[in-house]
Amino acid sequence: MVDKILNFDNTYLTLPQVFYSNVNPSVVPNPEVVLFNEELGQDIFGHTTNPQEWSQLLSGNRVPENTTPFAQAYAGHQFGHFTMLGDGRAIVIGEHVSPLGKRYDMQLKGCGITPYSRRGDGKATLGAMLREYLMSESMFYLGIPTSRSLAVTKTGEKVYRDRTHDGAVLTRIMSGHIRVGTFEYAHYYGSPNDLESLLNYTIKRHFPSLLHSNNPAAEMLEYVMNRQIDLIINWMRVGFIHGVMNTDNTSISGETFDYGPCSFMNTYDLNTVFSSIDTGGRYAFGNQPTIIKWNIVKLAETLLPLLNPSQNRAIEIAREIIDKFDNLFMERWYAMMFSKIGLIKPATGDRDLVDQLLLAMKSFELDYTNTFTSLKRGITTKESPSQQLDPLNPWLTNWTRRLEESEGGFLAAAALMGKTNPLFIPRNYFVEKALAGADENNYTLFNQLLSLVKQPYSSSNEIEKYSYVPNNYDHNYKTYCGT
Ligand code: AMP
Ligand code: MG
Repeated sequence: MVDKILNFDNTYLTLPQVFYSNVNPSVVPNPEVVLFNEELGQDIFGHTTNPQEWSQLLSGNRVPENTTPFAQAYAGHQFGHFTMLGDGRAIVIGEHVSPLGKRYDMQLKGCGITPYSRRGDGKATLGAMLREYLMSESMFYLGIPTSRSLAVTKTGEKVYRDRTHDGAVLTRIMSGHIRVGTFEYAHYYGSPNDLESLLNYTIKRHFPSLLHSNNPAAEMLEYVMNRQIDLIINWMRVGFIHGVMNTDNTSISGETFDYGPCSFMNTYDLNTVFSSIDTGGRYAFGNQPTIIKWNIVKLAETLLPLLNPSQNRAIEIAREIIDKFDNLFMERWYAMMFSKIGLIKPATGDRDLVDQLLLAMKSFELDYTNTFTSLKRGITTKESPSQQLDPLNPWLTNWTRRLEESEGGFLAAAALMGKTNPLFIPRNYFVEKALAGADENNYTLFNQLLSLVKQPYSSSNEIEKYSYVPNNYDHNYKTYCGT
């Protein structure tokens, strides 16, 4: 009986009632599990499972006895505008505690309307849920904190968007779904007590080391800021563009989540945007550091009453923390870039080396991922660099000289580069092709990509087939939210 391996303990329900609504998923006609993540199942349940036994549960048709599902209330700044939101098409089935004692929200996304659905239908399309599954697994295996996907379950129902789609539910696993937007909700719609309860709950759940700190709100703010800086730098390392970094999609735990219009950048350009609604480029690849700082300022504003009873002092405390952002970000971003070019002990002048490489990559429209792969290949095989790198010629001479002079030489540099530069990212063109196949019930390409995302740092003959971008494909490529 599958219920036995679900060890639910819903601490979120100890928060004041304003933070959630108890609601059950809608019943669907014909659940069928089309993808099940065995590795993740093993990790969180300590068991292998037979996915088809789970179809009633993963579709939301059957709620296990030992839990009370809930939809979370939150607000958020979407493209800079504040609004009330909440889980409009997602329900947390429960908080599962793994055999190792780790706590995970088990959330069904696309499982029908909730009190926060506004005019939406609460549903999701198969294509969008498969896309989230692939992208989140890719991020996980790239070594980047993220929500994960346990399953995609077709509902047997049609969902209406631009056209008719198969409906599906994604089972999302995450260490917690508290967002900057949850704090905004508490601050603007709740009472001072609600806000304080949320702070205490969040600290207990995500930052227990801060339980006895002198100023828990200040320390949490700094913790979240640091985690988000690390997260965005990881995104920048692999060319990830989240696409909709609204405050409700910024987790307190520092995990990537809400994979909507996200994508990976191919040609290096800070202005890269694929999201159809991001016409101003607010969430462009290179704008992500600025936006995360903006989101952290929004978090700080909600915490003011808890930072200090005097508003002036509270603002000072918040400012002292936020003022550290720029330096921290720059230091860690360069450290990440140094590792991408194999510099183990960076020295004065190395920042120029990074800046010049990126400038050249931009002006010669080089592929972000493949450039670093070729650089590494060049020093590993001592072959003359591939033609693709010709435009980098004066830079290459400086770089190789720099590596020759450094401890460990090419060998040590290549080892470091191998850890930080993925060989494989899911390219837009192939992702869309795989999803089109799956829509016709042909999962061959989807499964091929899924197996490649699991080993992004290992070379294989297969990778090359999926590591190019057809001419001009990206120019017209668009991604969509909430489909
Ligand atoms: P997202 O873009 O996924 O972060 O969603 C933004 C907000 O819209 C959240 O409050 C979602 O719950 C809500 N939402 C998105 N799609 C739907 C839908 N199909 N039905 C109801 N609410 C939705
Ligand atoms: Mg969201």
